[in-house]
Amino acid sequence: MSLDVDAAGPSELSSPLYREAVVQFDRVADMINLDDNIRARLRLPQRSLVVTFPFRRDDYEAVDTVFGYRVQHLQTMGPTKGGIRYAPDVNLGEVAALAMLMTWKCSLVGLPFGGAKGGVRIDPTVLSRSEKQRLTRRYTMEIINFIGPDKDIPAPDMGTDEQVMAWLMDTYSTHIGHTEPAVVTGKPPSIGGSIARREATGRGLMSLLPTIASHLSMPVAGSRVVVQGFGKVGRYAALAASEMGCKVIAVSDITGAVHNDAGFDIDDLARFVAENRGVNGYRHADELDPAELLTLDCDVLLPAAVGGVITGENAPRIKARAILEGANGPTTAAADEVFRENGVLVVPDILANAGGVTVSYFEWVQDLQNYFWSEAEIVARLREILNRALSEVLDMAIQKGTDLRTAALMKGIRRVADAKLARGMYP
Ligand code: GLU
Repeated sequence: MSLDVDAAGPSELSSPLYREAVVQFDRVADMINLDDNIRARLRLPQRSLVVTFPFRRDDYEAVDTVFGYRVQHLQTMGPTKGGIRYAPDVNLGEVAALAMLMTWKCSLVGLPFGGAKGGVRIDPTVLSRSEKQRLTRRYTMEIINFIGPDKDIPAPDMGTDEQVMAWLMDTYSTHIGHTEPAVVTGKPPSIGGSIARREATGRGLMSLLPTIASHLSMPVAGSRVVVQGFGKVGRYAALAASEMGCKVIAVSDITGAVHNDAGFDIDDLARFVAENRGVNGYRHADELDPAELLTLDCDVLLPAAVGGVITGENAPRIKARAILEGANGPTTAAADEVFRENGVLVVPDILANAGGVTVSYFEWVQDLQNYFWSEAEIVARLREILNRALSEVLDMAIQKGTDLRTAALMKGIRRVADAKLARGMYP
């Protein structure tokens, strides 16, 4: 097969995460005998927009030039969908890799979207509220022709939240001359956001645990859970875990890591974090070296922070029986190899954290119909969609003798390939 890109991807997209995404895709493409032409198309994003724009700090002494990105991996399945991250090291390759992962994620759970992702290269933690608002409005203007309710629908990701989505929606609406809630999901409910969107990723993740636990002949109640990251995903996953009777014994965030063998009171920890901007210093706990968190003795590990944290180096020391990936891309291909050998069950990101985009889909549907559902309906439909996907993936894994990531990718990629073949080529 001849491709004009090597395994590392073309130089424009070169980044460790893009390399991981392509290696992972190629491996599965080989296993399902994917048509060479379709493989070549799916390895690359269909549309990538790179912008630079001026950004004025509050003190107005200098104007910075900031990079922004929006990548749409695949147009075939419907509009594109995916979050926007604000991070100091975000780059085109990382955004392209995450857009590709969104394609497989939406396809796996059966949503009518292709994958997209956006990013702004900036450290959001040092921005004032007005700086963040100016940055968001200007970034929105830079990508305004690229997005829309039937084109590409952003959502929150690392470093962005409901308020950022509200500013994006307001900027877009102001410019087109009428209110358009369906341009973005993860908004506050007061402007057309969905109830239960904020908790969706963490709740969805934990709704998979009973099936995973029974697969491993392990009880849910009393199981010891370790959570890396206490943001939008980790916090609600930890809360759901403790509501299910698990013991959350260690939690970390950018300020540090804390450990308590008896299990945390998550509501109390969340209150502390809200007041102190981090877990560091929480009194009902021992301090822990964050580097040791992933290798603590536990039953379930939830990486819910950044990508690339579980590597070939630390994977052999991980003691959890199951890993539920709240973050996107937390496990490298080398670590996956270790887990395939030693039998640690990894529920991959495209399945485990798909609750976020699933409730985003509900939000978009509700906005388009101007008809809003009850929380009970949303939670029930979320559970049903995720658990159906999990049981299909478990069946496929057993049938093909593979791990869950491979099975999930097989299903996600197959559905996209079928759609591409059915649509054919223009001209
Ligand atoms: N950023 C989330 C993800 O990676 C949600 C995307 C969305 O809701 O569109 O899945």
